Amino acid sequence: MDNKRIIIAIDGHSSCGKSTFAKAIAARLGYIFIDTGAMYRAVTLYALEHGAIHSGIVEEAEVEAMLEDINIDFRFNPSRGASDIYVNGDLVEGKIRTIEVSNCVSAVSSIAAVREKLVAMQQEMGRKRGVVMDGRDIGTVVFPEAELKIYMTAEPRVRAERRYKELTEKGDSVTLEEIYENVVSRDKADMTRKISPLRQAEDAIVLDNSYMSVEEQMAWFDQQYCRVISQ
Ligand code: C5P
Repeated sequence: MDNKRIIIAIDGHSSCGKSTFAKAIAARLGYIFIDTGAMYRAVTLYALEHGAIHSGIVEEAEVEAMLEDINIDFRFNPSRGASDIYVNGDLVEGKIRTIEVSNCVSAVSSIAAVREKLVAMQQEMGRKRGVVMDGRDIGTVVFPEAELKIYMTAEPRVRAERRYKELTEKGDSVTLEEIYENVVSRDKADMTRKISPLRQAEDAIVLDNSYMSVEEQMAWFDQQYCRVISQ
């Protein structure tokens, strides 16, 4: 059975439910789920907290110099059924999804040294296969050999509404408009950056989940998985 363990790469636009989908797939298959966006967010949080971002402007050289002081690891949290992210031993899971981090993360993730460090970690984490990894460059750069590549998208308004609901339910005070602007500007930044821009891999299949329930997405996934596994 072990030789059937595959790599599932899920890339796509911001806030279209990639992590929720990836987590559900990993639970179903008994695979490891890795949220690579959380890693870029963790570096961004560290940069914010250590003065490398001034009034929203990311000082690239300062972030680069900090990289060797940033140790990221994931630890499984059974109550969430997923791994929490830690930076230098501190749990940061609850702090990385604020609008402040979201507004700076695309600039931080466009720094070559940041990507080099995180991509190497991601490749190491997937070495034993049996992983579902979500991000922007998983099927194109991190694991171009992944057996199943999914490119996820949804209408920007739908995505903003979902993220707004998630954040306000947690008690964050944000407006739908600022979330919408963040979603649209992150897509643009992620798709136009020089290094590893977000793009659909040639062999990726598209999933537009604007009007799909979680159950419908899982049924769609089962079909794709069966097709790949029986090849
Ligand atoms: O997935 P999430 O929305 O949490 O990702 C946050 C940001 O991290 C993205 O907008 C993108 O700038 C960056 N990212 C990336 N490459 C990945 C995952 C995320 O550049 N593989």
